Amino acid sequence: MTTRQAMVQHLHLLLGVDRFKDYGPNGLQVEGRGEIRHLVSGVTASLALIDAAIAAKADAILVHHGLFWRGQDGRVTGWMKQRLARLLAADINLLAYHLPLDAHAELGNNAQLGRVLGWRADGRFGEQELGFIGEGSAPCSLDELGARLNMALGRTPVLAPGDGRPLRRLAWCTGGAQGYFEAAIAAGADVFVSGEISEPQAHLAAETGVAFVAAGHHATERYGVQALGQHLAREFGLSQQFIDLPNPA
Ligand SMILES: [Zn+2]
Repeated sequence: MTTRQAMVQHLHLLLGVDRFKDYGPNGLQVEGRGEIRHLVSGVTASLALIDAAIAAKADAILVHHGLFWRGQDGRVTGWMKQRLARLLAADINLLAYHLPLDAHAELGNNAQLGRVLGWRADGRFGEQELGFIGEGSAPCSLDELGARLNMALGRTPVLAPGDGRPLRRLAWCTGGAQGYFEAAIAAGADVFVSGEISEPQAHLAAETGVAFVAAGHHATERYGVQALGQHLAREFGLSQQFIDLPNPA
């Protein structure tokens, strides 16, 4: 068992929250009960995850994508009302960590995706050093990399071919990091793996020779929050479970 306050303080220091400029608040987003025994983790604070956490008798929900983002108009109506009403009625804490969870060198999304795929990072790149770059066990082709991602993540990736070179230097950044492609190219990558692709990346891949792979926003961001949930369970003697709700994006 632990307290809400102890868990929030621990996560604030562990993830270095103050070092990041982010698109939404990191930490406690919705205050619930003071004591935490059971923790549910998930990628996004959707209504479905909140309902599943209530059914699982969670005291706190830990997510990568919280409820509040820059650009929202701030009204508590519609879907926002639904989600908040459920959380408040059940007195459940909602804790969200976005970029600090992508970046953490051991428990973060990028570190954990590298672990799942057997990639060793030897450098960082891009804004706020969120991107990871390194090597796998051996150079491979784009099709081999696609097959490996398909098997590991259970989702068919979108491949934008480069010049067909053997892929030795692998750069990656989970989620919607397609805007980091040029920074990955500048860092010396042969391929950049992220969650999503937008229209320009296919042209950049063809013209620079550096391949681009979109392996799924949700699929690439499932691992950080799981590692963090397991860490908290050990640290505070909690029970915890990860609830994976499929997402096509
Ligand atoms: Zn994301």
